[in-house]
Amino acid sequence: MTTNVVVLGAGFGGLELTTILSEQLPSDVEVTLIDKNDAFIFGFAKFDIMFGWKTREQVSSYYRDILKPGVTFKQETITSIDPESRRVVTSGGTYDADILVVALGAEYDFEATPGFVEGGMEFYSVDGAARLREFLPAFPGGDVVIAVLSEPFKCPPAPCEAGMLMHQFLTQRGIRHKGSIKVISPFGRPIPPSPDGSKAILDRFAECGIEFAGQQKVVGIDPVRKVVELADGATVPYDLFLGVPKHRVPAVVDASGLAEGGWIPVERPTLATKFANVYALGDVTSVGTPKAGVVSENAAKVVAAEIIASVKGGDAPRYQGNGTCYVEFGNDIVARLDADFFGGPSPVAPLTGPNEQTTADKKQFSIDRRRRWFGYAE
Ligand SMILES: Cc1cc2nc3c(=O)[nH]c(=O)nc-3n(C[C@H](O)[C@H](O)[C@H](O)COP(=O)(O)OP(=O)(O)OC[C@H]3O[C@@H](n4cnc5c(N)ncnc54)[C@H](O)[C@@H]3O)c2cc1C
Repeated sequence: MTTNVVVLGAGFGGLELTTILSEQLPSDVEVTLIDKNDAFIFGFAKFDIMFGWKTREQVSSYYRDILKPGVTFKQETITSIDPESRRVVTSGGTYDADILVVALGAEYDFEATPGFVEGGMEFYSVDGAARLREFLPAFPGGDVVIAVLSEPFKCPPAPCEAGMLMHQFLTQRGIRHKGSIKVISPFGRPIPPSPDGSKAILDRFAECGIEFAGQQKVVGIDPVRKVVELADGATVPYDLFLGVPKHRVPAVVDASGLAEGGWIPVERPTLATKFANVYALGDVTSVGTPKAGVVSENAAKVVAAEIIASVKGGDAPRYQGNGTCYVEFGNDIVARLDADFFGGPSPVAPLTGPNEQTTADKKQFSIDRRRRWFGYAE
């Protein structure tokens, strides 16, 4: 008897989970991995797309290249999830799972911030990054505002990375002197659990003349006056507004009854939902860790161990809420953050670098995962 595992979403979490199950249980499980897209793109590759450093094609890893024992990939859109019966309906068929894993990530609610759709641009979606790729070469220079519009949001350092990379881009274009760069954040410092990481970013901001405006809430954008409106009544002028949109679960998750208070609650040690044999991992949950690919990947290891233990017996490790991620400082300088959310009394994320090793490590990070998940040589 094989166990039928259906994995919804082939992002960081879904890809790592199916890879482990194929390695560890090649003939005990049949894994169906479902995603609406034809390719995986690392979150940080959106910077490469937006600044025109790489094409969408160059940063795409195609699901058709997944050749793993026991794993079948389906490019289909999931239209309904019944967590009680573990039945999933997609654009291509119906799937009944012995074990169901929801790894559908977070989507964006662009309409949630008044004026954003009319007056702003964004780099959090691949399409948004592609639009910026067309727009930025013709941008004449001026005041650039990068603002976080709601919490939680993916990859807490990303807005600051965007500021430092924008400085690099505008300097290379010879138009940096024509305006300012400002990052508006609800946080008091760039990365709340990392005092040294925050200091390194603020030091770099000072070198580059970038302003960090913390503990600010954006309530709207006025595209006619070209100002950002803050909750305290102040306004910030902009020539180019880049917003980090409000995040939410995909609509199919919302309709499934899995989410409560906006996200899917899970038991922290096991990542089990309240429904029997249904797990959820990564950005789609409210587990209490930041929304980041490396965190989703580590969550997948815990769910994989749970499934392996249910098939073979034995104990599974508990979810630690940790992950190593990289921070771009611009000009090909990268530092590393080692985040640990549940290992101590409070979350920590000490910084290493930036130095040559941490810069090289980030390149290796992509190479390793493309090899492990897709079988690519580079
Ligand atoms: C600009 C930027 C920079 C980032 N930098 C980093 C970084 O340096 N390090 C890091 O760790 N993280 C980074 N992230 C965050 C990271 O990309 C996400 O946190 C991560 O992808 C979450 O993984 P996940 O598996 O939970 O979900 P996802 O990777 O989002 O995967 C979810 C999948 O579900 C699919 N899906 C959704 N709805 C449906 C449906 N109805 N039908 C079928 N398929 C569906 C989607 O197509 C998607 O492939 C960054 C994000 C951004 C935007």
